[in-house]
Amino acid sequence: MDIKENFDNIKKQIPSFVTLVLAAKTRTKEEIIQAINAGATDIGMNYVQEAEHLYKDLGSQAKNIKWHMIGHLQKNKLNKALPIFDSIQTVDSYELAEAISKKASTDNPTIIFIEINSARESQKAGVMPEDIEELIKKLASLPNISIQGLMTMGPASNSNTLRQCFKETKQLFDKINELNIPNIKLKTLSMGMSDSYLIAIEEGANMIRLGTVIFGPRG
Ligand SMILES: *Cc1c(COP(=O)(O)O)cnc(C)c1O
Repeated sequence: MDIKENFDNIKKQIPSFVTLVLAAKTRTKEEIIQAINAGATDIGMNYVQEAEHLYKDLGSQAKNIKWHMIGHLQKNKLNKALPIFDSIQTVDSYELAEAISKKASTDNPTIIFIEINSARESQKAGVMPEDIEELIKKLASLPNISIQGLMTMGPASNSNTLRQCFKETKQLFDKINELNIPNIKLKTLSMGMSDSYLIAIEEGANMIRLGTVIFGPRG
């Protein structure tokens, strides 16, 4: 796998307003550095501990990267997570947002995205689409956090369901912005992975999270 070639090819396929987040779980430092040298600016991590190691390993380079938490975040990991991550894309409860709000700093509010369970799969993380409005209204007054986006994984199944889930997530995104809730202006819609990013962009994503198409299959 030529990581630079993969990265360049994808950048050519996608509009410039779409942010490409490297989904870097299980990849080596060397692989990730190749992607950074090819131009990657954003890294998504699923585990706090893995992110800590990578952050240290990258040294001064780490500061030039935007770090996104894209895995489930446990409240007891917040002290370690907050100094690393610029954004937490997987907030799906008032309790987690409140815990972040208590620990984040006023000078440097933590960017959070609400994760939507767009496929309504009971075993999956995320807020049910019908509950998002109430949750965001409750979160709007919490200090030290800035709610800037929605994130969804979508279903693992066929691409028609997938497209429908992405479409509905975009509709929710627009609807929330139309409500003009004080403090709430969503900017980022994070959806689409290696097998779905083109569909996601067609349906309104402006952030995609890619692992396999950049780095090759996970070993
Ligand atoms: C692994 C992962 C991705 C990327 O998956 P690929 O299919 O390898 O592109 C995107 N989002 C999340 C939350 C992930 O865990």
